[in-house]
Amino acid sequence: MKVSFQTFELEKRFALTISRGTSSGSTNIWLRVEADGIEGWGEAAAFSWYGIHQTTDVTLSHLKNLQPKLEAFHPLERERIHALLDEQQVPSVTRAIVDLALHDWLGKATQLPLWKLWGLEPETTPQTSVTVGINEPEKVKERVRDWLEHAPGCTLKVKLGSPQGIQFDQSIIRAVLDTAPTADVRVDANGGWNVKDALAMCYWLDERGVLSVEQPLARGEEDKLPTLYENSPLPIFADESCFDRADIIALADRVHGVNIKLMKCGGLTEAIRMIHTAQACGLHVMFGCFSESALAIQAAVQLSPLAYTVDLDSHLNMKNWPFQGDPLTHGRILPGERPGLGVVAGSDPILTPSS
Ligand SMILES: [Mg+2]
Repeated sequence: MKVSFQTFELEKRFALTISRGTSSGSTNIWLRVEADGIEGWGEAAAFSWYGIHQTTDVTLSHLKNLQPKLEAFHPLERERIHALLDEQQVPSVTRAIVDLALHDWLGKATQLPLWKLWGLEPETTPQTSVTVGINEPEKVKERVRDWLEHAPGCTLKVKLGSPQGIQFDQSIIRAVLDTAPTADVRVDANGGWNVKDALAMCYWLDERGVLSVEQPLARGEEDKLPTLYENSPLPIFADESCFDRADIIALADRVHGVNIKLMKCGGLTEAIRMIHTAQACGLHVMFGCFSESALAIQAAVQLSPLAYTVDLDSHLNMKNWPFQGDPLTHGRILPGERPGLGVVAGSDPILTPSS
């Protein structure tokens, strides 16, 4: 197969602040694999956490090294390609972009969307949440009003764990509930709390009708999660603490659910294995994202009928649309009839070729 890739820029409509910092845009990568006259597309979105730096430059460097090796394979040889990625010790973002392109190729070759190949029922897709970052209460109200206008029917996922402490977190929630009193609300602390604050916040949030809390404690503090698990009135989800199947096994007795992200786990192949593992452990499954365009979001959309809840909103907060996927309708992104990932070129041209 022929392999090519290039970077492209995404700019956020609203900069997003979480407990660890602020992001206003990103440089992502578009990968194309071509064989038998069919092109499969994948996307990489960078992330850096707790000393794990999968930047765009790191992924580009891995792709440059892999390109001639990948070109020796056919896109149907996914297990052999994954063996190569294992052997080369390729990190998850690079694995994801390759895996997504191979799956897109498969769907286009069979002229079927992936959800149909997997036999899924699109109507079971849950509503997606849209993200409200850490900000002053008046800015939070402005953000919520914008989402209510542009994404009606969505759950609101509110970022807490602010450096100013839990009183400030509570002012954010009050601003959200004042503006959207009937919305479903979930909270993501991105590891910004200690156990005492987390437990106090779980009770406070439960009294206000919040549905769940994600990553209350920092990655590395998983040994403290049982205290929350046993005492919190709200379900606890792990995100930064959970990358792949092995993490699910380790977390099964101390969280109620896990947030699966394609860039963390290495693509659809591992995501499907994680779903089965989580279900076998009795855990809920959430699908999340980093700063992906509609391309990588659509890969998760194909699997979303299997999720308990989804948080697939990064593309909805972009000024530019290099790719177009399925629309948001009444708070849900239902996988449609286009083959593969279900992505076509969007309204903005792809810029900045790099290979
Ligand atoms: Mg999260």
